[in-house]
Amino acid sequence: MSTEDCLFCRIIAGDVPSTKVFENDRAYAFRDIAPQAPTHVVVVPKEHYVDTADLARKDPTYLGEVLAAAVDVAEQEGLTGGYRILTNTGPDSGQTVFHLHLHVLGGRPLGALG
Ligand code: AMP
Ligand code: ZN
Repeated sequence: MSTEDCLFCRIIAGDVPSTKVFENDRAYAFRDIAPQAPTHVVVVPKEHYVDTADLARKDPTYLGEVLAAAVDVAEQEGLTGGYRILTNTGPDSGQTVFHLHLHVLGGRPLGALG
């Protein structure tokens, strides 16, 4: 897939609008268009990787940097009561955008997974 075909690459490039909440050299974060919690932020690596497995195999240090960016987002958003960082990998997970992204969810008790 070329970056022209990838929604999140287009968001990072500024070709598709987003509500930015955080950015550093390696990661970009924006509000989810269909929030599942009072705070729902999507954190993406600025480079294109399909999913967690893709980045873990190719550059695990970078995966750690994206995870650290998600923690920065949670702190910036004031999620002092706790939060959930979630990433879908592959069709059975329900992944719909095939550019790795971490969901940061919080702002209310989130309940059990499942
Ligand atoms: P996933 O289902 O894990 O692949 O997550 C994709 C997420 O991207 C969903 O939560 C969508 O609501 C979100 N999303 C899709 N399009 C946009 C967009 N243009 N701006 C912000 N979030 C989006
Ligand atoms: Zn992409």
